[in-house]
Formats: sequence, C-alpha cells, structure tokens
Amino acid sequence: MGLYSRLSALIPDQSCVLCAENAKFCVCDECESSFSNHQSRCKSCAHPIVGKLDFCGQCLAHAPAFNRAYTLYDYQGAIADLIKIFKFDHRLCVGDYFSHQLFDLYQSIVSKDTQYDAIIPMPLSNSRMTERGYNQVLELLSVISKKTNTIIDSHSVDRIKATQPLSALNPEQRKQEIKGAFSVNPISYDRVLLVDDVMTTGSSLNELAITILKNTSVKHCDVMTLARAESKFN
Ligand SMILES: [Zn+2]
Ligand SMILES: [Zn+2]
Repeated sequence: MGLYSRLSALIPDQSCVLCAENAKFCVCDECESSFSNHQSRCKSCAHPIVGKLDFCGQCLAHAPAFNRAYTLYDYQGAIADLIKIFKFDHRLCVGDYFSHQLFDLYQSIVSKDTQYDAIIPMPLSNSRMTERGYNQVLELLSVISKKTNTIIDSHSVDRIKATQPLSALNPEQRKQEIKGAFSVNPISYDRVLLVDDVMTTGSSLNELAITILKNTSVKHCDVMTLARAESKFN
C-alpha cells in the first residue's frame, strides 16, 4: 500500500488529494490553478513551442504518422503528482476528475470539420493487463463514453510485445524497441483518435498510428493525451 493510500484513509471526503485543503471535487481551486498548460504547442506533437510557429523543429524534420496531437497539461509539478496518484494509487475520484477534463478537451476538438469514427485507447500488454486487471486509459474515457455517441474501440488493437521504458532510450533505439509492438484487427473506420495518458517521446503513439494506417482503411489518426512530458531528447 502506497503512502498516499495510507494517508488517504485519514483525510475526510471533499478534501484535495494533493494538499488536503477543502475542495468541491477531489482537487482544490488553488492546486488546479497551478497545473501547467502551455497555450502554444506544436500542432503535430503538442510539444510546447515559443513564438508563432505551428510546428516544432523535430516535427518539421520528421513528421509523426498521426496528424495532430492534443493535450491538457504539461507533465510536471502538481499535475505529475496527480497523474501518479491516478496511475499507482487508483483513486476513483482522480480518474473521474481527469475523465471530465478529457471530455471538455474532446468537445473542444470535435466540430463540424473534425469528427472521429472511433476513439482507440492505447492498449496495455497482456502481462501489464494481468498485473493491473484493467486499462486505465479506458477509465479516462468514461465521461466521453457516457456523454457522446463516439465508439470507444478497445478491442481492435493489441499490444503483442512488452517493451522496456522508451524514455531512457535514444530516438533510434526507441524506434527499434517499439517496432512491431502492436497488431490490429480489420476495422472499417476512416478517422480515429488515439488516446494515452502521458505522451513523452510519442514513439508508442506513432507506432500505433503507423500500424493502423498501414493495415486498415483508416486514413487519418489524431492523438489526445492527458499530459505531454518533456523528453530529454526533445
Ligand atoms: Zn489542493
Ligand atoms: Zn512537434
């Protein structure tokens, strides 16, 4: 049992999971206002960008297989702590909080011009699935699933190779490590939105997009994540 799990038993309901102050939901206004979110991001990979450029240098040199990436936060400070609480302590209220935030982001993405035939959550490997018992990315999509008619397809792609953490590898090693990690069943969508909790190097989402674009009728993949982490190679 993690430290947080032990402490949380002592904290009354309706207190902020980060600072224990009173909160109307599981995060107080003050902590929420400290969450870092750059307004200017690369349209392709969501990396923070300075000035008025649309794309970062890395995407200009090597565009990823997905078209656009959308994210809510920068993975740092209090938001990184909250995501760790969500991932490792499995607090339902934090999952619910993020799920509502992602629903708002999704609403802002979809419009007359941008629609998706399906949302595909990043699959876990079988061993990770057995260890955890569920895919947390799917939990992040629960409000979108309840409030929209979008298909959430968690069955058509599989992770067939367990990989070592990609963030420690250089770009070439990453590409090799993640290559062939996914398989996809026949699907008949045209446009899909791939979803993951945190995007660091983008290699996993890129490989998933490559696998889907190469083997199915899908012509357009976008990406949505909770947070964008800084890769030491960016
Ligand atoms: Zn707080
Ligand atoms: Zn970029």
